[in-house]
Amino acid sequence: MRIDILTLFTDMCSAVLNESIIGRARAAGKVEINCRDIRDYTRDKHRRVDDKPYGGGMGMVMQPQPIYDCFRSLCDELGTTPHLLYMTPQGKTLTQDRVKELAKLNNIAILCGHYEGIDERVIDVLQPEEISIGDYVLTGGELPALIVADSISRMLPGVLSDDECFTDESHYNGLLEYPQYTHPSVWQDREVPEVLLSGHHANVDRWRREQSLLRTKERRPDMLENAELTKDDKIFLDSLHNV
Ligand code: SAM
Repeated sequence: MRIDILTLFTDMCSAVLNESIIGRARAAGKVEINCRDIRDYTRDKHRRVDDKPYGGGMGMVMQPQPIYDCFRSLCDELGTTPHLLYMTPQGKTLTQDRVKELAKLNNIAILCGHYEGIDERVIDVLQPEEISIGDYVLTGGELPALIVADSISRMLPGVLSDDECFTDESHYNGLLEYPQYTHPSVWQDREVPEVLLSGHHANVDRWRREQSLLRTKERRPDMLENAELTKDDKIFLDSLHNV
């Protein structure tokens, strides 16, 4: 999988992409993530890439030509057209299901807006998939792009130590994850649940599943409508009504 982030702030992205699990995955060649500087494609002699909005108003708007040329040069380099994402608060909110689908692609490009956003004409021409990371507004698309790149990368084979690291996690299977504990077994007079110390794997699995169901019911009951539930899960959830 290759991901290219098209941005005016490459250093901001590189700083994050060189760290921790994603940094190690990149170094090991499990995922390729590059940052492409949109400013390198401006034809303006002062290297400008933005201008005032037509019609007046606050802020600056990113011009279409540098973005278009930046994307075209990427297509030329790849010899194919990558799936283009545009990070925008006006897009569809990112979900784990969408991340799973995106992780199956070979080439993804992520376009980051900044300032007041991007001239609409280049959006019309490039027809990106518009993705939001939530109903709030940030100063730029770099943090959202990094969120997308991180969430996709961790699904790729070999990026995490074990695929189970993500298959049990919140949202992967439509539920929230169970609570986690580590050493020491007693901290501030609070004990780790006894079943986790028992070494009885089947009981641990059942306890975790029930905690997962309980948490989801308490915190995100909406998710239970679409979750895949076994007969035992349903019996457990029904038993909660009677408590
Ligand atoms: N004027 C735009 C609007 O009201 O829809 C917001 C522009 S925002 C200040 C600048 C850039 O940050 C956007 O072009 C987008 O790339 C990014 N951005 C901000 N909030 C975002 C969000 N919730 N999800 C994804 N991208 C976001």
